[in-house]
Amino acid sequence: MRSVSTLLFLLLLTPAAAQRSYLVDWDAVGAEAIDHLVELVQIPSVNPPGNETEVAEYVKAVLAAEGIESRLYALDPARANLVARIEGNGSKQPILIMGHTDVVGVQPEKWYADPFSGMRQDGYIYGRGTLDDKDNVAAGMMVMILLKRLGVELDRDVIFLAESGEEGTPDVGINFMVEKHWDVIAAEYCIAEGGQGVIRDGKVHTFGVETTEKMPRRVTLVARGTPGHGSIPRLDNAVMILANAVAKAAAWQTEMRLNETTEAYFRRMAAIAPPEEAVLYENVANPEMTDEVQQRFLETFPYHYSILRTSVVPTVIDAGFRRNVIPSEASAILDIRMLPDEDVEGFYQSLAAVIDDPRVEIVPEPIYRPAAPPSEIDNEMFQTLERVAVDMYPEATVLPIMSTGATDMAQVRAKGVQAYGIGPARTIAEINSGFGAHGDNERVAEDAFVSMVEYLWRVVLEMGASD
Ligand SMILES: [Zn+2]
Repeated sequence: MRSVSTLLFLLLLTPAAAQRSYLVDWDAVGAEAIDHLVELVQIPSVNPPGNETEVAEYVKAVLAAEGIESRLYALDPARANLVARIEGNGSKQPILIMGHTDVVGVQPEKWYADPFSGMRQDGYIYGRGTLDDKDNVAAGMMVMILLKRLGVELDRDVIFLAESGEEGTPDVGINFMVEKHWDVIAAEYCIAEGGQGVIRDGKVHTFGVETTEKMPRRVTLVARGTPGHGSIPRLDNAVMILANAVAKAAAWQTEMRLNETTEAYFRRMAAIAPPEEAVLYENVANPEMTDEVQQRFLETFPYHYSILRTSVVPTVIDAGFRRNVIPSEASAILDIRMLPDEDVEGFYQSLAAVIDDPRVEIVPEPIYRPAAPPSEIDNEMFQTLERVAVDMYPEATVLPIMSTGATDMAQVRAKGVQAYGIGPARTIAEINSGFGAHGDNERVAEDAFVSMVEYLWRVVLEMGASD
């Protein structure tokens, strides 16, 4: 947590004139932000069913108490989205801050305490949504409140969207907002979830900003054969046909390629990594070494293997129902995560060629997140995200990140918005603890959360405040 005096000191060093006149007491505002995060966690908006309207109503009431108007937009009355706007003078295009109000489910028996109690202990806030994504909801709400309280004069509108349905049902959330209410959220830039700082030796060492993400394009493999008695072998046993197809698909080393984000990511990682690691990052695309490097990634840090390619991962097999019956049909799901520029149909054709068995049908799932190019890493917004990060965390290297997962930013990027994901910093031990997003005992460190609120505030101020 940063005190006023530290902030003042930093402001004297900061050339941006816009920030000088807006002082924030981060001890007080941090405590307030934590209280709101706890209250948000205490609303169990598990999707399904979601019931995000309850969260939206909470945010609406908090904003209203500050004199900020907001409006609910609902395709399903129980699953409303909230939009608020603080107007600027219109000389620049708006910034959109997003946070999703739904959370994934829990296995409560695996938690220390009620996952919806918002328990605070040893500097952590526990609860489903503390990292995904009520931290961003609370941070966005606090930034709107501060803009209003301090009467910040803005060159651009700042829009806050607390959207429902991110966890697998974007039709009620971001798709509904993009398709039916784009006019109320249209922006030049967007800031949402998906980034993360990494703390080493008590300091933020890398500061990841999500600039692009892979596209979920899963398929179901359906194998068909002749049913019969388990005592009699058959060449067209559906279980065997499926198993062969799954094995071939999983072993397929798809084409490796870099984009602007991953190229910069590996270059920056090479500059800060110990020599034995740096040599891997430096030689990712070196034809002489790339095979070896990729193999090392696969064995030791599969995330790096994944961001180099469209990945194919078997996750579900559904075959047979009785030990002495050969079923007529067997199926498997391949969780395919495509590079942002992948030729989807072409990839499915290549998959069919790899499986090379006409008895296996490839059935793609409906597309629920559109394709979108990576957001830029040389524009005013990325430079600001980078400058503020280095200002707040002088030892940090800012890394543009391609997420292997998917978020609602896909939809806004597809509309031409430059979108960036941020998140609280965590230690390596914390990242490896299992207490992360979607995990048991999901938790956020209070100081890291408050620091994230301050970061978002400073970025919005630098991008939006009039001189
Ligand atoms: Zn999320």
